[in-house]
Amino acid sequence: MSPPTILALDLEGTLISNAMSCFPRPGLHAFLDFSAAHFPRVVLFTAVSEHRVRPILDVLAAEAAIPGWARGIEIIGWAGEVKDLGFIPRATVAGTLLVDDLESYVHPDQRAQWVPIEPFVQPYPDTDLELVRVTEALRDRLRSAG
Ligand SMILES: [Mg+2]
Repeated sequence: MSPPTILALDLEGTLISNAMSCFPRPGLHAFLDFSAAHFPRVVLFTAVSEHRVRPILDVLAAEAAIPGWARGIEIIGWAGEVKDLGFIPRATVAGTLLVDDLESYVHPDQRAQWVPIEPFVQPYPDTDLELVRVTEALRDRLRSAG
């Protein structure tokens, strides 16, 4: 089994609070840098449309909540009820992992690719450690495949 090469990240409830308040989750900057260092391709797979996401990324980068490179992150266009990893251009399902807080978005045939994360919700505690925990979960996935 070859290690996954694409990391698909949900936005709302996973990396930030939501597209209205846009609070960055604790550890977001380090998590994105880890992602880029360990996966050849990191994409955003979100229900929020790209024209709304780009200004959010600009603000987060200006606040240094995300690395500068993340402003230009690839955003996956898709439609439907679930985040079918087949929507990612040139991706194979087996070579892709999805970090998402909502199980209902996971394609039923692609559950093995899902890396669950607890939703980042009010009161948005600054003690939230989910991105640290998921970093270790991703390290395990890479190790077990490598
Ligand atoms: Mg979400």
